[in-house]
Amino acid sequence: TNPDQDFVLKTIKGRDVHFVRFWFTDVLGTMKSFAVIPSELENAFAEGMGFDGSCIEGFCRTQESDMLAYPDASTFQVLPWRPDSNAVARMFCTIKTPSGEPFEGDPRTVLKRIVDRAAQMGYVFNVGPELEYYYFKDAEGTEVLDRGGYFDLTCLDSASDLRRDTVLTLEKMGIPVEYSHHENGPSQHEIDLRYSDALSMADAVMTYKLVVKEIAMKHGVHASFMPKPMADEAGSGMHVHQSLFDMDGNNAFFDPEDPQGYNLSKVAKHYIAGLLKYAPEFCAITNQYVNSYKRLVDGGEAPIYISWAQRNRSTLVRIPGYKPGKESACRIELRSPDPAANPYLAFATMLAAGLKGIEDELELQAPAEDRDLFRLSRQELRKQGFATLPDSLGEAVELFASSGFMREVLGEHIHGYLVEAKREEWNSYQRNVTQWERDRYLAAL
Ligand code: GLN
Ligand code: MG
Ligand code: MG
Ligand code: MG
Repeated sequence: TNPDQDFVLKTIKGRDVHFVRFWFTDVLGTMKSFAVIPSELENAFAEGMGFDGSCIEGFCRTQESDMLAYPDASTFQVLPWRPDSNAVARMFCTIKTPSGEPFEGDPRTVLKRIVDRAAQMGYVFNVGPELEYYYFKDAEGTEVLDRGGYFDLTCLDSASDLRRDTVLTLEKMGIPVEYSHHENGPSQHEIDLRYSDALSMADAVMTYKLVVKEIAMKHGVHASFMPKPMADEAGSGMHVHQSLFDMDGNNAFFDPEDPQGYNLSKVAKHYIAGLLKYAPEFCAITNQYVNSYKRLVDGGEAPIYISWAQRNRSTLVRIPGYKPGKESACRIELRSPDPAANPYLAFATMLAAGLKGIEDELELQAPAEDRDLFRLSRQELRKQGFATLPDSLGEAVELFASSGFMREVLGEHIHGYLVEAKREEWNSYQRNVTQWERDRYLAAL
């Protein structure tokens, strides 16, 4: 028998669990769930639980819709915001086809496949994401809760209790939090999770987004991970800190003898080169909505220029300062992703890009220290010969569509689905006439 499964069955009895929620995500990263009664579990571990996949975004068409959800016992947690008696627990699931094959439309399966590829190369992929979000008084998003700013700690930060409640709930679910603070925007916040391996972290990110929203709802407010909810305020990003450890637990990114003085190994530099090379192609994954590109504009705090540097926060990849003796903390930070991305696919594509950089021994371009690239527009950057991220979902999806690399990393199924769905989203947006256009043109033309 499996010790994790035994633990689940014992905990269910001990903690009066009456509902076990099976969690998985669709291709866009929306959480899906159904509840199972405890007596079904033993069977579910062995044979999976059937469900109709045809209603899940990006899963399958009706003629081949039977799917099986296999719960991962190592992800079992009781939901702390639900009652203590007749309690509710959850497990993340792997989705399989009726013939028992891993389903290629399951984002968790895609991430597992790339994580396995890293393992074959001798690496464990560690990530630490920083998710930003806003609180609003209601789901219409008309009013924020406070006028606080970066790191503010006063009564302006009326969301302190909300954040505290959220952090405590996450910790009860075995998700350690490292930092939490008010962000630049009014009522904008950030809670940073302690780094872990990518699969656990993608599960944790899904949990985190749900917990932030649940706790907000409990307090009668609304939390949103929309990348750019207000034109004149900061967007919400999901910076992703990343490193590769070898199988002995040593940080493969760390090299104190780095001739450039960054304490970065050759592996790390090839990895960064891979990220820079493929960032335009995976942008449709890390920044998957029309609205994502309202954040990736010049003059903002998010990167548009394909570059790296140690201190400069306008670059796509930043090397956080190294604290002597903290070799394990040596890492790189990718600053383009936003929190509305599907974390499984976002981590899978960035890891695949980095590994490709290592495999192909890609040469890392010179760093962009001491240049304030924030001030240059995309057009100016491109004119000066700098590569930039795509400026719209329309451009991003075409780069993604013609990328053989993305097709290989994500598989035909997800790649094909996303090309179709994202083109449709872009075209639907393009058909709109916005208030901005009416204000600008109607009277004058
Ligand atoms: N909100 C910024 C972004 O969109 C990041 C700000 C910060 O964390 N320094 O990426
Ligand atoms: Mg931060
Ligand atoms: Mg931040
Ligand atoms: Mg950061």
